[in-house]
Amino acid sequence: MTSFQLTSKEFYTALGQDRLIGSRCLDCGHISAPQRQICPTCHSDRQEVIEFDGKGTLAAFTVVSVPPTHMAVAGYGAKNPYCVGIVTLQEGARVCAQILDVDVHAPHTIRIGTPLVMTTIERGEGETRKKYLAFEPA
Ligand SMILES: [Zn+2]
Repeated sequence: MTSFQLTSKEFYTALGQDRLIGSRCLDCGHISAPQRQICPTCHSDRQEVIEFDGKGTLAAFTVVSVPPTHMAVAGYGAKNPYCVGIVTLQEGARVCAQILDVDVHAPHTIRIGTPLVMTTIERGEGETRKKYLAFEPA
């Protein structure tokens, strides 16, 4: 289906092309995102790379106003908080990603179950600049 490999850096190679990949276990069918070499359910090493449709729903979230260093460098902080969520992909896997276009100053308005679509956000400068996984309301 794709030419992507199971290595972790491929996840970002795919994101650079606005594509979200993961893996499916050939033995038990478990789906992981990002992709894994070993199935977390049955420990099989027979995994294939799959590409997700990029649609999902918000399963959990938090608004971060005291960010880790790399997010502080990107301009986030107490005056510019950001939302991080767990997204349940329609294929069944769960991924952690930044959630865009939600009101981070009114977290009570952010709803579990909100339909989301994948997007990307660029952070970093120069050679460290790359695309990261993000979602926004569908
Ligand atoms: Zn498995």
